Amino acid sequence: MKLLVTGGAGFIGSAVIRHIISDTVDSVVNVDVLTYAGNLESLAEVEGNTRYVFERVDICDRAALDRVFSVHQPDAVMHLAAESHVDRSIDGPAAFIQTNIFGTYTLLEAARAYWQGLTPSRQAAFRFHHISTDEVYGDLGAEEPGSSCESRPSSLFTEYTPYAPSSPYSASKAGSDHLVRAWQRTYGLPTLVTNCSNNYGPYHFPEKLIPLMILNALEGKPLPVYGCGEQVRDWLYVEDHARALYTVVTRGAVGETYNIGGHNEQRNIDVVHTLCALLDELAPVGVPGAARRLPVGKSQIRQYADLITFVTDRPGHDLRYAIDAGKIERELGWYPRESFDSGIRKTVAWYLSNLEWCRRVQDGRYQRQRLGVAAVS
Ligand code: NAD
Repeated sequence: MKLLVTGGAGFIGSAVIRHIISDTVDSVVNVDVLTYAGNLESLAEVEGNTRYVFERVDICDRAALDRVFSVHQPDAVMHLAAESHVDRSIDGPAAFIQTNIFGTYTLLEAARAYWQGLTPSRQAAFRFHHISTDEVYGDLGAEEPGSSCESRPSSLFTEYTPYAPSSPYSASKAGSDHLVRAWQRTYGLPTLVTNCSNNYGPYHFPEKLIPLMILNALEGKPLPVYGCGEQVRDWLYVEDHARALYTVVTRGAVGETYNIGGHNEQRNIDVVHTLCALLDELAPVGVPGAARRLPVGKSQIRQYADLITFVTDRPGHDLRYAIDAGKIERELGWYPRESFDSGIRKTVAWYLSNLEWCRRVQDGRYQRQRLGVAAVS
């Protein structure tokens, strides 16, 4: 089977490609325009494999997509390319509308034209899998009168939860989900949608909560926590998500939606304390060769948690997301393998061993060498 993966140089897309190339016999065409979030270095281990091809293409470029479909003749599309950072969507929503809505529309149209030209048997087997987020469902906490740092409702997002996105990011993802379902209902394109909770793990771009905290801590910078840090997220190890996505694209039922989650609800402040405790254990402050004794303003820290700093909350910040992943477990037999304890320990250890990766992706060095260009968008 040949899978066309969009956004394959990103955090989750690269985990999906590493999984497909190392654990299956399938082939991958990686379609990625390489924004600041796309890093080919995350795919260094699959480069050169005859089952892997990279196409630097923008999903908003219909002519380029038509060429890619025609040349590579994929059996399925796994669509992960997106603008994905909520804070960036608040500062500049236009790129989110362009890529997440217009880009998804353009990809759907290119896929539909290609699919219509396939033989009946290949048409029936073709899949368009759209990868989305639980953030489209909005805020579980907001339903609770007076919900605050103390109160938390116990409900979960199911596949039937109405959409109520809060940020430009989640609104643009919600829009793209609706387009995908409409292309199935209207044109018969065999689509699948998955909505997943927060991912964490290796190769996560250092602007997101977990890598940002690890790197700031190691540099002795403040660890900024929004509001009182009481926001609850349901964390899933990225390799568990990659396995879930492959399960859905190969065995999911056409037209269905599957929620994916890790049964790991954590308050942000607890995640940050867990990271600090792991860093205290694995890279203790002041131990030569581990981490430097770091200056914080004019004072010194004794432990990483001393760096925690509460900052003004993000506008529209949802209090709680939590997924009911029962459907994918019952119908497709997928379960997460990592607990939060095992996954977060692996993640911290990975960042400690790969600090150079962080520096290189932040300045785009590997990409420039790989592509032979002077600058990366
Ligand atoms: P990411 O930001 O790490 O990667 C996005 C990738 O898409 C990058 O490689 C980027 O270069 C590429 N891209 C962006 N615009 C493009 C365009 N116009 N054309 C081609 N490529 C483009 O994102 P991620 O965290 O890996 O998320 C992947 C998908 O999973 C997204 O659709 C996101 O909404 C969804 N998702 C993410 C999470 C999470 O916790 N990260 C959770 C649930 C769902």
